[in-house]
Amino acid sequence: MRIIFATANPGKLREAAEVLGEGYEIISPATLGITEDIPETGSTLQENSLQKARYLFERTGLPCFADDTGLEVDALGGAPGIYSARYAGPEHDSNANMDKLLTELIRIENRDARFHTVVTLILADGQPRFFEGVCEGAIAPRKAGCGGFGYDPVFLPDAYPGRTLAEVSEEEKNAVSHRGRALRAMADWLKSY
Ligand code: IMP
Repeated sequence: MRIIFATANPGKLREAAEVLGEGYEIISPATLGITEDIPETGSTLQENSLQKARYLFERTGLPCFADDTGLEVDALGGAPGIYSARYAGPEHDSNANMDKLLTELIRIENRDARFHTVVTLILADGQPRFFEGVCEGAIAPRKAGCGGFGYDPVFLPDAYPGRTLAEVSEEEKNAVSHRGRALRAMADWLKSY
């Protein structure tokens, strides 16, 4: 099955292809000439991922899925959440976002946090189906590591004590990541569909 993933991030495309395995060809919107930014104006992760999946389905009529992720920090009441990408401003600058987060958490003891992903899948019947994944962890005292993307250098996953997500291999990250879990839930559902 050919299925569009609403992302231009090559790491995410690789991860989805690996999780879905044989029988699925994962393509980016750009492959079909869709290169504009897909609107994300919802107030929840589910609304945003649904909006992105619908946008592609309405333009292509092809099976598609979209993800939306937020970093939820307990001491900040769940912020930055859906605002994770633009936490420090509209530029979506990961370094600035991490710097702002580390500043907000100076002298704060409770650093518990989680990444939360909602994936929306739309197949030929046009019905949206939702899959969730969570990766529990804590915000590190400082940035460490150069792998991954986004907030990875400041996120210490419970699964790998003492290492940030930017210090583990891509395979290790995918095995425990929020998106990996949501994508595996979708893959399991597709197998029985
Ligand atoms: P998006 O929903 O994938 O666009 O992500 C929203 C925000 O969360 C962006 O700032 C991303 O950089 C960040 N983010 C999403 N997934 C990850 C991840 O796996 N590691 C670190 N940051 C992430």
